[in-house]
Amino acid sequence: MNLIVLGAQGVGKGTIAKELAKKYKLTHLATGDILRENVKNKTKLGKIAEPYMLKGALIPTPLIINVMTKKIKQIKKQNFILDGYPRNLKQARSLTQIKIDKVIHLNATKKTLIKRISGRRICDKCQSTYHIKNLPPKKEGICDKCGNELHQRADETPSAIKKRLKIYHKLTEPLIKLYKRKKILIEIETEQPIKDIIKDCIKQI
Ligand code: AMP
Repeated sequence: MNLIVLGAQGVGKGTIAKELAKKYKLTHLATGDILRENVKNKTKLGKIAEPYMLKGALIPTPLIINVMTKKIKQIKKQNFILDGYPRNLKQARSLTQIKIDKVIHLNATKKTLIKRISGRRICDKCQSTYHIKNLPPKKEGICDKCGNELHQRADETPSAIKKRLKIYHKLTEPLIKLYKRKKILIEIETEQPIKDIIKDCIKQI
């Protein structure tokens, strides 16, 4: 089974995709994590992507299609869950030769999204994500898994968040209609505890 998780910034795509990957033994491919790792390691891709990411803009579509096509080829026969890809119709077209079983659309109001994003903290070392209220680390400001200090992402300033939500509305939301037409869309309400969101996803899958 191959899955896609769709949803605006702050909806909890990463947390939910990780749980579903564990449950169904899927390889979790998160474009944001892949790109941040490249920025951290100062690779050629990271150097091109960084200014776009800091502004909250999408990186050029041919570039991300190239990265993801290679990643999907690399994992060969393993099944996957895509998190953060596709983000526009061109990217969705790059997947037409690949069997996608279900697309999970995670829904939340703008007010909830902004509240969730501003409380989000990330570990730069192992990419674990936390939320100061909804998913706090055991020790404030410290990653449970690797003991590294937690940070707010550079693209989670109010102006970058606003820009990212606008882009989501304009470019990514049309994918919801596309996958609805293909009859593979699952709608999930996220104004409930994480464990209930996961239960809901599993039930509908
Ligand atoms: P995310 O962690 O998924 O919010 O991604 C962080 C940033 O990485 C985005 O704001 C974009 O700059 C870039 N990015 C991630 N996925 C994509 C994508 N599918 N297409 C273009 N840019 C992307």
